Amino acid sequence: MRRKKATSASRDRPEPAAEPAAKVLADATPEEREDKWNLRPRTFGDCIGQGVVVEALDIAIRASKERGEPLDHTLFYGPPGLGKTTFARIIANEMGVNFKGTSGPALERGGDLVSILTNLEERDVLFIDEIHRLPRQVEELLYSAMEDFTVDIIFDKGAHARIYRSRLQPFTLVGATTRAGLLSPPLRQRFGIVRELHFYSEDELVQGLNRSARLLEMAVDEDSARVLATRSRGTIRIANRLLRRVRDYAQVRGGGKVSPEVAKAALALEGIDEVGLTPIDRRLLEIIVNQHLGGPVGIDALAATLQEEVRTLEDMVEPFLLHRGLLARTSKGRVATEEAYKHLGVEKVDGEGQGKVQRELL
Ligand code: ADP
Repeated sequence: MRRKKATSASRDRPEPAAEPAAKVLADATPEEREDKWNLRPRTFGDCIGQGVVVEALDIAIRASKERGEPLDHTLFYGPPGLGKTTFARIIANEMGVNFKGTSGPALERGGDLVSILTNLEERDVLFIDEIHRLPRQVEELLYSAMEDFTVDIIFDKGAHARIYRSRLQPFTLVGATTRAGLLSPPLRQRFGIVRELHFYSEDELVQGLNRSARLLEMAVDEDSARVLATRSRGTIRIANRLLRRVRDYAQVRGGGKVSPEVAKAALALEGIDEVGLTPIDRRLLEIIVNQHLGGPVGIDALAATLQEEVRTLEDMVEPFLLHRGLLARTSKGRVATEEAYKHLGVEKVDGEGQGKVQRELL
């Protein structure tokens, strides 16, 4: 059995000691290279935030390793960019096992899943992103795989069909989804560890940006990091993306030096406002305020007007607006809050005709 060397899990999470990217890339494995490129932590000690999740996983991993068992099947849920994939990779790394990643839509046929499952080694981590999008017959194969580490392979069809039950190595399934409620109950019930990932606080994002800046070998002062953190929608992937945009801007227009002014100018160019809203966030709020008198308005109507998919709005746009208190969900539909009116610079008038968004204020 091929085991990989585990890197040290740290219970007390010391100050991350990130090495500059160039140095690490020289003798890194392809997996390490990918993680470096994505600015992805590889150990719990290098992780920012998500304290309770890290603590619970660290305990579960230590206990499983002591017993020589695979970690219980684990489900992560939460908006995109908060670290679901990262945690799955860290689990494999901390367990000292192989990581195999795929996604719900990629597993079109039962055979796709069976060939992955039968190639897993003992205690390996199989990560399925967007697990709520698994086709039904593929999902059903997972039930026995998760519960008894067996999978039924069917040969031929109709009267000649033969079922062969194949025994699998004990493994850990790590699933990721934007909302736990999207999973069917039989699948959800088969996960022993279910954890929600939360939006990052401004301080955590500053910490994360400092870590990423070190990896990118950039100097970013505290004030500039804060400008970025307040505009990152509580999402560490967005913070990292914006950091790269600021690096480009500073290189071309700022003499290579990042300052709060350079950061603000770079983000304005991206259409990001002072609380991190993007043009689509603002358009969504404007539609509710201007065309629907503040709401309630159904998500289908909003999606049609914005020419976006309902799923995109529900997964990528709404969670932060709800978190920030700019949008509320009611049984009748979405409503713009007082905070949204303030942010758009529109005076709220009771009843009809609440005024148009003053675009020059945006
Ligand atoms: P998700 O799978 O939830 O969409 P990812 O795990 O791909 O999110 O995370 C996106 C990026 O955010 C990663 O590439 C990494 O750079 C960064 N990241 C995620 N979680 C953390 C964390 N806890 N600490 C530091 N950076 C993180």
